[in-house]
Amino acid sequence: MKLYSTNNHDLKIDFQTAVFNSMPQDKGLYMPVEIPVLDQDFIQHLDQYTLPEIAYKVASALLQDDIPAADLKAIIDDAINFEAPLHQLNEKTYVLELFHGPSLAFKDFGARFMSRIMAYFLKDNEQLLDVLVATSGDTGGAVALGFLGVPNTRVTILYPKGKVSEIQELQLCSNGHNIRAIEIDGTFDDCQHLVKQAFADEELNSKMRLTSANSINIARLIPQTFYYFNSLAQLFRAGKREVVFSVPSGNFGNIGAGLLAYRMGLPVKQFIAATNANDTVPRFLETGVYQTRPSVQTYANAMDVGAPSNWVRIMALFNDQREQVKELVKSYRYTDEQTVQAIADIFQKFNYVACPHTAIAWLAVQEYQQQHFSAEDTFVFLSTAHPCKFPDIFDAELAAQIRIPEQVNELKKKEKTATAMQADFAAFKTFLLTSN
Ligand SMILES: *Cc1c(COP(=O)(O)O)cnc(C)c1O
Repeated sequence: MKLYSTNNHDLKIDFQTAVFNSMPQDKGLYMPVEIPVLDQDFIQHLDQYTLPEIAYKVASALLQDDIPAADLKAIIDDAINFEAPLHQLNEKTYVLELFHGPSLAFKDFGARFMSRIMAYFLKDNEQLLDVLVATSGDTGGAVALGFLGVPNTRVTILYPKGKVSEIQELQLCSNGHNIRAIEIDGTFDDCQHLVKQAFADEELNSKMRLTSANSINIARLIPQTFYYFNSLAQLFRAGKREVVFSVPSGNFGNIGAGLLAYRMGLPVKQFIAATNANDTVPRFLETGVYQTRPSVQTYANAMDVGAPSNWVRIMALFNDQREQVKELVKSYRYTDEQTVQAIADIFQKFNYVACPHTAIAWLAVQEYQQQHFSAEDTFVFLSTAHPCKFPDIFDAELAAQIRIPEQVNELKKKEKTATAMQADFAAFKTFLLTSN
């Protein structure tokens, strides 16, 4: 697989380089030079394949000969070792549950695949790979659990003290082994700033092999295509073929993977990008003006992104043709009040508890149906996290309905271990250089 930078179409680099760099020097994003179209026979008969089989077919079409078949299969079997089931709510509507991985959020697909790809490319005797991550909640847990026990890697997570939920904090701070957490007396921005300073620091870079594992890494995008194909497989089995996906969107990596899958031949009628008040993309599709804004805080906080980093990828997939994107991707935004009401409505109608991000995707399905009714359509909205990760959102009656997964009960028995630190780069640097 060859990749170019969205800021420099002449650049051509290989997959391994893109994985370890995450982002080109020119601050563009890596994109595949060629997007393979899967054969029609496979697509028409998706219903005959399992999730790991589909994942292998899609990944090998993209990666070609970067990783030998047997190794790629082993990576997929190890990384994607949980289900992505469709749960049917009514005749036309399904929720795609992407929260059955270890951190209970869809980011497990990306983080687990990326960690294993990195470990694969690290030669046995090569220097330890130090992964630095700043997190406001979900990313840190997925990366920590994704890299846990992966040889030749060590993860250092910085999170803002008192600003992540109890479950999220335990996911960051109870792992031991090759994972360690630093509790920063400051904000998420402080954490992110410390990580950026570390990447820019010459001494650290000469002594350590640092990588960011961040959400724009191409190795996180690829595995997110798998569950779109696998959803179609499940729908074909139910005799449904006209499909509309609604995706709760923040950095637009999840829907970006859906659109990459579409370019690879995934038969989808329509995508819906659902956002909270951070509505840069819906505004762009309405007005043609792409104007980022500082993010505002909402209940669906994993989508609090004012400058969605993957949007340029989506535009690149469609040769920067806004009209084409606008045809295929409808986009709607919702307030916190609407989100809370939607959680209550979904429970009342379907006896199903949705997390706030998921509820926003459902709202967008309702709005789309009102505007574009077609009796043939089947709707799939993506559930990106388990509701138990957001306990403060639910009233007592709803909270009582949430089935707590086994992982969480196990987690609650564990001790929190984190190094407390001021938001001070000198202290962070000393920590990195002296703790082995
Ligand atoms: C990260 C995240 C999102 C947003 O996904 P993007 O790929 O950034 O658009 C939505 N919901 C949850 C629960 C998340 O963790």
